[in-house]
Amino acid sequence: MKSTFEDAQKRLTNVFRYFELTDDVREKLKHPKLCLSVSIPVRMDDGRLKVFTGYRVQFDNTRGPTKGGIRYHPDVSLDEVISLSFWMTIKCAVMNLPFGGAKGGIVVNPKSLSRLELERLSRNYIREIADVIGPKRDIPAPDVYTNATIMGWMADEYANIKRQQLPGVITGKPVHLNGSLGRESATGRGALHVLQEWVNRKKLNPQQRTLAVQGFGNAGYHFARLAHDEGFKVVAVSDSKGAIFSEEGLEPGKVMDHKQEHKDLKSMMYCDGSVCDLQRYKKISSEEMLELDVDVLVLAALENQIHKGNAGQVKAKLILEIANGPVTSEADAILAGNGVSVLPDVLVNAGGVTVSYFEWVQNRAGLYWEEETVNDRLRKKMGKEANTIFDLVEEKSISLRTAAYLQGVKRIAGAISETGTREYFQEG
Ligand code: GLU
Repeated sequence: MKSTFEDAQKRLTNVFRYFELTDDVREKLKHPKLCLSVSIPVRMDDGRLKVFTGYRVQFDNTRGPTKGGIRYHPDVSLDEVISLSFWMTIKCAVMNLPFGGAKGGIVVNPKSLSRLELERLSRNYIREIADVIGPKRDIPAPDVYTNATIMGWMADEYANIKRQQLPGVITGKPVHLNGSLGRESATGRGALHVLQEWVNRKKLNPQQRTLAVQGFGNAGYHFARLAHDEGFKVVAVSDSKGAIFSEEGLEPGKVMDHKQEHKDLKSMMYCDGSVCDLQRYKKISSEEMLELDVDVLVLAALENQIHKGNAGQVKAKLILEIANGPVTSEADAILAGNGVSVLPDVLVNAGGVTVSYFEWVQNRAGLYWEEETVNDRLRKKMGKEANTIFDLVEEKSISLRTAAYLQGVKRIAGAISETGTREYFQEG
């Protein structure tokens, strides 16, 4: 099996061609700073003891404490967590947040656990990694299949261990437990701001532009809902169990109501008039969804979804990467050859970590903002950093991804240089 981290590193090689970089920076960005692997014993409801494997990886902390979510998924591996921590490092720099990058994960199918088992697993994981996290050291958050409730248990467990309230140790907490207003929808909202900035730049009319959205979790759902409100036409959505299509457009709010009731999208085919109308939706395969003739293909599920095997079939002229790493580096080249632009993950999905930063700031200040203030600051931040990248694309005739990496790596390289490189010592 190919290493996702090796593939992720290829993007750096590409970026290094565009600016002079000291060998010290290249060397540093090849290696995660800390990889912690832990065994997490959990007492299951039937009395058995089961041991789960978990990871926490801190990639680079030159620009500040490391930051990044915790994923619960059966396919979690150390290679994946290292890649995700690397992307977090680039992402925080792209957004100019005072953070380095980290990520965590547990190899588990959370849907197979009871609520109490899930709580014990989450609290025990924090016990195992408590020595390496902290508000000034490494700050976890939600990611795939984790949510505010889980972050609340984790923050509470950390407070128990440290015998003091330190809400800044974790972001994405419930609002009643010092979470930030606006964090829940921040990733989807931020992605929509990037898409809107791009549409404005290109002088395209958002009204009735068609979107297909792969992934209907927190990020994909909020994005689809907000995009629909802004006049985009969401014609297809998929989750891990299947995809649905409607020429006239779907109502994401209603699809979510149905999903929550029936637990998957496939069963929408069998529901009656109250939530959805059977006639209006067509069931399609997840693969067909990626090849739909839409204006924008939105990837909000997992990594490696568009690869060399299917990149040639993508008909959309724009891809919006809400997931981390959904397009491989081989697919990048094929898409570019076919004139498909890719708005990259390290910018597009950065709304989540940006509002996490706002949450951390609020926790440390002890002063809480109105939701309007959060959303307003998010919109300004996304707009500013997106336009800096769009300017770079025009100035250097490079891809959006290369421009985003260039922007991020420059900031990281600046910080690394200021802490001392070979050139620095030689000059001295
Ligand atoms: N898991 C999210 C991401 O990949 C959020 C990270 C955070 O808020 O720290 O960006």
